[in-house]
Amino acid sequence: MKQGLLIVVSGPAGSGKGTTLKHIFASPKHGKKYTFSVSATTRAPRPGEVDGVNYHFLSREEFEARIARGDLLEYTEYCGNYYGTLKKETEAVLERGQNLVLEVEVEGAMNVKRVYPEAVTIMLLPPSFAVQEARLRGRGTETEEKIQARLARTREELTQLEGYDYVVYNRDGKIGAVAEDIYAIVRAEALRVLRNKDAAAHYFAE
Ligand code: 5GP
Repeated sequence: MKQGLLIVVSGPAGSGKGTTLKHIFASPKHGKKYTFSVSATTRAPRPGEVDGVNYHFLSREEFEARIARGDLLEYTEYCGNYYGTLKKETEAVLERGQNLVLEVEVEGAMNVKRVYPEAVTIMLLPPSFAVQEARLRGRGTETEEKIQARLARTREELTQLEGYDYVVYNRDGKIGAVAEDIYAIVRAEALRVLRNKDAAAHYFAE
């Protein structure tokens, strides 16, 4: 069976990563081809977030024990909390031929790319920094201090944009278009010769 794609999606706060991924997983046509890698984090759950679905919510002690045990493919500290990808969320899924989606920040994305050079990295962006700021204030779930921290982090993260394979823009009210861009990327990536090394052998075998 063909291996699934490892798709790494990053995007600053307010880029609509969560909404976009929800849209893809709910798609009757595409949803079943994708599995979400549930990360571990030490941050507190936001209203509506479910342990084991959105994240594995761990204490700092538990997280550090997992690091010590070598359970993490990558991890980082972001705005005062640990976030990391559990190895057990990745390997088996790809072998089943499923596309695995990791939603991680820039440092994590670059670390994944080092371990899996064939991973496809996508940066999701709001149309502009001004729109991002307006979205964060509109969300109303975070303090001004946290909003400022996330905006400052965005400036830093975008210096790494060149390390990504694709940039996709999330314009207001256009989630369907964002999902279509991602399907197009996945479709093209699956056709790359580097993922079809046995194409000639198959061609002559029939
Ligand atoms: P949030 O607190 O908004 O859910 O996530 C904060 C940031 O952490 C986001 O940029 C998100 O992509 C990133 N993140 C979530 N899970 C992981 C992970 O497993 N590893 C890394 N490196 N970053 C993650």
